[in-house]
Amino acid sequence: MKIIRNANLHAPEPLGLRDIVVCSGKIAAIHQCGVTTGGLECDEYDAGGDIVCPGFVDNHAHVLGGGGGLGFSSRAPELQASQLIKAGITSVIGMLGFDATSKNMAALVSKTKALREDGVSAYCLTGATLEHPVPTLTGMIRTDIAFVDEIIGVGEISISELGYGYDSFGAGAQYVAEAAVAGLLAGRLSRKAGYLCLQVPPYLSQVLKPMFQVVEKTGIPITHFIPSHVNQTDGYMEDAAEWGRRGGWVDIGANYSPENNYARATLPSEAYRRLLEAGVGADRILISSDGNGAPPKEEKGENKPRVANYMPMRNLHRALCRIMDEGIAELPQALAAVTSNVARATGLTQKGRLAPGCDADLLVLDRNLGIRSVFAMGQAAMIDGELRRRGMFDRILLDELS
Ligand SMILES: [Zn+2]
Repeated sequence: MKIIRNANLHAPEPLGLRDIVVCSGKIAAIHQCGVTTGGLECDEYDAGGDIVCPGFVDNHAHVLGGGGGLGFSSRAPELQASQLIKAGITSVIGMLGFDATSKNMAALVSKTKALREDGVSAYCLTGATLEHPVPTLTGMIRTDIAFVDEIIGVGEISISELGYGYDSFGAGAQYVAEAAVAGLLAGRLSRKAGYLCLQVPPYLSQVLKPMFQVVEKTGIPITHFIPSHVNQTDGYMEDAAEWGRRGGWVDIGANYSPENNYARATLPSEAYRRLLEAGVGADRILISSDGNGAPPKEEKGENKPRVANYMPMRNLHRALCRIMDEGIAELPQALAAVTSNVARATGLTQKGRLAPGCDADLLVLDRNLGIRSVFAMGQAAMIDGELRRRGMFDRILLDELS
């Protein structure tokens, strides 16, 4: 058992000063301050009135390492548990992404299991960005989601059957619809969301338009899809605003910004503001890192980019801080974009909220929203900036990647 005392609780809705009782990795109770242990042996942590919020739920990360578009040396290394903990991410959803040639679903599921052993709540999606049909572990999307505990959905899949850089002839949208239905049916069987994470070719004319047709023609719920990094271009932002107004999730990529070599992207905080102004409900907006990915850097005035653009996990937290620094939202609303909204979109009902019965994934934030301490499944993962949990190979990780 553990008691976290004097927490300025943001669940993410503000609940005032509270003591949080944790038992067997779950939140057992939330009390007025001054709760007594009745003689039970109990670890105590005093938050001293600091903000305590749910651990971040990152719905898009390349846990095996993304990249590979610039030679074998551009394949990013595997993500380490400490990178997640330091970034305040206590739940992560991994996916293969671009390179499903040198990496596969067996490796992804193995890595997901490894992160769980290291104390982080990890999940993954079946599939890859550029292949139609997508690679799977068991041979089918349905059986992957139905029978593999770690796999909770499908993605990221490009709408275009021709891949990332090309508009679809139309067969791509058809395939995405079929993959989405496979996820939907398997998800019902296994009580998972079975949702589909979408990748769209952002620089071409169609952007999300084929997906409006998919939703209209098939009746698949719009909330079954998560269009990823919608702030990549203005055209994508426009379509995403319409998608969000219709009740769909819109996912802002924390690493897509002019400050991170994406000249045509909108700064995540600015994207958040623009989506709100365009009439998208704050409860529809998600932010993810696309972290540990390493797409080719977009170089100005050059056709052939030569350097990988590494995407740090920490920029998820930075995007949140930026929204707050710029006064775009109140803290509970901004927090929802990296906690409760994400948990709802991905069907992780135990995550993203601090309430009795939920998993005890908590962050303690200082006055400037710096991440002071992290608890993952009730275990101390970082205390006052000092890591308490590491993966087996974390000690040899280069600092600049964290
Ligand atoms: Zn990605």
